Amino acid sequence: MGLFSKIKEMFKKDSEEVVLEEDNESLEETLEDNETLEVEEVEEEHKKEVVLEKEKVKKENPKIIKKEDKEKTTLEKEVKRYEKGLSKSREGFVSKLVSLTNRYSKVNDEFFDELEEILIMADIGVNTVMSFIDRLRKRVSKEGITDTSELKEIIVDELFIIYVNDQVLSSKINYNTNGPTVILFVGVNGVGKTTTIGKLAYKMKNEGKKVLLVGADTFRAGAYLQLKEWAEKIDVGFYGKEEGSDPASVVFDGLKKAKDDEYDVVLIDTAGRLQNKVNLMKELEKINKVIDGFIEGGANETLLILDATTGQNGISQAKAFKEITNITGIVLTKLDGTAKGGIVLAIKEEVGLPVKYIGLGEGKDDLSVFDIEKYIYGLFKDMM
Ligand code: GDP
Ligand code: GDP
Ligand code: MG
Repeated sequence: MGLFSKIKEMFKKDSEEVVLEEDNESLEETLEDNETLEVEEVEEEHKKEVVLEKEKVKKENPKIIKKEDKEKTTLEKEVKRYEKGLSKSREGFVSKLVSLTNRYSKVNDEFFDELEEILIMADIGVNTVMSFIDRLRKRVSKEGITDTSELKEIIVDELFIIYVNDQVLSSKINYNTNGPTVILFVGVNGVGKTTTIGKLAYKMKNEGKKVLLVGADTFRAGAYLQLKEWAEKIDVGFYGKEEGSDPASVVFDGLKKAKDDEYDVVLIDTAGRLQNKVNLMKELEKINKVIDGFIEGGANETLLILDATTGQNGISQAKAFKEITNITGIVLTKLDGTAKGGIVLAIKEEVGLPVKYIGLGEGKDDLSVFDIEKYIYGLFKDMM
């Protein structure tokens, strides 16, 4: 069974059922003694009692059940979010793939040419696509594949392999074990930095963390007010100053507040003006020096925000930012707004940085931890 089939099985199987089975298992364990005692009793009577007993156990362990319920609904919700957020890509490039394999029943050069074009159009990146097609051709000749229908699953598997190959890229946030965790957000204007900070703060707050937002984008008028609005909306802490203030000094005051008021996480918004690389580099250096004064080694994470709808331009931004500062991960926003969800694979191949979160909408709930399996499922679930 191919990788994709496994993924599909994992999510398609009603996740409710899976958890319910586990529920029953643990309940059955608890009930085992009763059951063996009652083996000789009338079957019907016995069943009734088991049902009653199960209800009793459930009542007595509301916490356990609740936690399982919560985990179940979280997974379901997450899978749904991916499915919904990737629907444009599914209707875009994935439906082209389906139509291609329908139009060509036999694998030939024209088939590969068209496949190549579809993948390049999906923002997967020219180099990635070339080596992908190369590998696919080799596999086809080695395994003696002649029908395109046999190729569908292999295509998805190979795309998956592009991402997980070589290194395991962790989407985990590197939390500070001693003092507040500081996360710096960089990226050009309009990619979704401020919105992402709001969404991530909401997520972290729901995990029980005390979160402070720091508005160090002092370049654009009103930038700090937009962040302040988010802080008020989701009820987390805020520190910021009006435009024209020195961003490093805002960071200094913000971190001081974080320490004094014992915040767990500090999310810092910055102005990422790539037009003036030297300035930006100096500004980020200065900010990092300030952070370094509070936390050894500087920011725990520097997340680069990229707008998925900008395609290859986003890849160029990533390369430029990598030269300017030490980026630890990518947040890919607006995946809901593009039909070319392949950019995730291009980032991995061409930039070599892990995608840690993806934005699948504008609301406070629309940020997901990036998970390659859910992503592949969300894209290709209708293909086979
Ligand atoms: P910044 O300039 O980098 O801080 O970008 P903003 O946070 O101000 O976002 C710019 C625009 O993109 C806003 O209209 C956001 O609502 C929108 N946006 C951000 N993330 C997403 C996303 O994941 N999906 C969609 N559809 N829109 C987003
Ligand atoms: P440009 O012409 O749009 O590239 O802007 P300049 O680089 O000439 O900068 C105009 C003013 O804004 C100067 O006073 C700079 O010190 C200040 N400035 C430039 N870049 C930034 C930035 O990223 N953040 C902040 N806070 N100020 C900046
Ligand atoms: Mg902003």
